[in-house]
Amino acid sequence: MTVIDQVYQGDKSSSGHPRILALANQKGGVGKTTTAINLGTALAAIGERVLIVDLDPQGNASTGLGIDRRSRNCSTYDVLIGEAQLRDAVVPTAVPRLHIATSTMDLSGLELELGSTRDRAFRLRDAIAALNTNATPESDYTYVLIDCPPSLNLLTVNAMAASDAILVPLQCEFFALEGLSQLLQTVEQVRTTLNPNLSIHGIVLTMFDSRNNLSNQVVADVRQFMGSKVYKTMIPRNVRISEAPSYGKPVLVYDLKCVGSEAYLKLATEVIQRERELRAP
Ligand code: ADP
Ligand code: MG
Repeated sequence: MTVIDQVYQGDKSSSGHPRILALANQKGGVGKTTTAINLGTALAAIGERVLIVDLDPQGNASTGLGIDRRSRNCSTYDVLIGEAQLRDAVVPTAVPRLHIATSTMDLSGLELELGSTRDRAFRLRDAIAALNTNATPESDYTYVLIDCPPSLNLLTVNAMAASDAILVPLQCEFFALEGLSQLLQTVEQVRTTLNPNLSIHGIVLTMFDSRNNLSNQVVADVRQFMGSKVYKTMIPRNVRISEAPSYGKPVLVYDLKCVGSEAYLKLATEVIQRERELRAP
């Protein structure tokens, strides 16, 4: 029996309202895409039906899940520009219950192309809403995870306007906190102007190395600064996590028993737990 079998709790139902979480941090290389892929896989393993929306022109989430560039006929660019429905950009992955809306480089031109269109910040929100109205049992997602680009541009604003909450991956390195206040400010701005329901779901510390004093110091600082917003689960620096994308596989499929897979399963449990607390009256 695999860990995935052990944690599987039966297929979940969304009753038409998926929880929408954006993986956001304007810094590159902090673990947004890795967390989208592996938290998504871990949630699917538990029985959630998960859609990852690749909103980064680099398309790393699509590639990391083994989706060939040639098979991305329709992408999140076509959706946001208004020429396709979100469901047309969705492809299944090798992981049961995990789908992805793929991206292509075209996305990098979106901001210019949309210009000052009135609804330009709500393109993704509306596309996700349309997905729910005609959901089949397959596309009745319980979680939508949006993988944001490394910038606070129109794409990230679309993600924030569409989301219930933001999940912030923070790398355990010296400059971790630098930029966090700017990110929090942007969230606050979006909350007051575009999406009053937006909250911070949590901060996940990534690439943690317990042998490294600096890593430990960063953890202490972030926990002091952000308190209970920081998930208890930390994602360790783990070579298996970084190898997996080159095989087009989530780490949970590439090496289920490694510490990286274990950590992402724990994080998924914690995310679901926090959901229950947030929803409790
Ligand atoms: P982002 O999407 O924020 O730019 P990525 O998720 O692409 O960041 O991660 C940046 C790089 O770090 C990638 O090469 C990824 O494989 C690697 N990486 C991410 N998390 C870990 C980890 N926990 N251990 C080792 N390498 C990691
Ligand atoms: Mg990325």
